Amino acid sequence: MRAAVLTAPGRVRIEDVATPDPGHDEVLIHVEGSGICGSDLAVYGGRPWFDYPRPAGAPGHEIWGRVTAAGPGVPDGRVGQRAVALSYNGFAEFDVAHVDHLVPFPRDHAGAFPGEAVGCAMNVFERSGIGRGDTVAVVGVGFIGALLVQRAAACGSTVIAITRRRFALDLAQRCGAKHVIGLTDDPYDVVAELTGGHMCDVVIEAAGRQSTLDLAASLVKVRGRLVVAGYHQDGARTVDMQSWNWRGIDVVNAHERDPSIYVRGMKSAVAAVTGRMLDLPALITHSVPLHDIGRAFDLALERPDGFLKAVVRP
Ligand SMILES: [Zn+2]
Repeated sequence: MRAAVLTAPGRVRIEDVATPDPGHDEVLIHVEGSGICGSDLAVYGGRPWFDYPRPAGAPGHEIWGRVTAAGPGVPDGRVGQRAVALSYNGFAEFDVAHVDHLVPFPRDHAGAFPGEAVGCAMNVFERSGIGRGDTVAVVGVGFIGALLVQRAAACGSTVIAITRRRFALDLAQRCGAKHVIGLTDDPYDVVAELTGGHMCDVVIEAAGRQSTLDLAASLVKVRGRLVVAGYHQDGARTVDMQSWNWRGIDVVNAHERDPSIYVRGMKSAVAAVTGRMLDLPALITHSVPLHDIGRAFDLALERPDGFLKAVVRP
């Protein structure tokens, strides 16, 4: 099969490698596509703790496709299913996954379905405790931020979306945000005005920077909740503990590490997308063939106007 191999930081090539064999409790999946995740960019860009070349197909972990073979111990009926899966080498024609990490979806579902990424947003929403009538700010409208705007709006909260990019302001509005604010428009003052000075019940930070963390924290009302969905893995952050402490805010770091919780999020994702609570096709802006995967990484790094999410299709 063909698979992408990261041979060195910033260098990727397509190689012919052996198709993996599904082991005990594993299935073989013919990959229809895999999303490029923000966390993949560290591996692509290079960090001192990564060795190269990386395994064939790594770090593709947002796959969907069709089950074509099952290893020993896998219950009958899996072969032929279409599913999203938690796997680790998905930038390839085939990948294997544990049968418990497979979430089937209807065979006739059209379009890309990077299930792990949508599941991540569903898990953030679950931890946010957002309910009907809440005023919610989402700081950062990338793929996860846009999904959270859709999800929060769908449950009857009033959503304020704050983002740097003009394109993302329009998108957030289409996703159901009642108000959209550009980063240059003094978001604190605008939110204070919109909320009569009370600020927000819940603020989701979804951009992963010190500046967006500061802004998000400042928008939380007394006894409100700050939910950190951004990926803050490029060094330590500082926080204004004096202000957090005074307002008595709850702070939730909404990343998950337990695979069974990922899978739970992916199940909610399949239900939400197939039930049309989420509009996923609107958020997949780029589809790139596997042989051109370097371009998909570069798009995700550069985030040109109109970019939200790239998927790679073998
Ligand atoms: Zn991911």
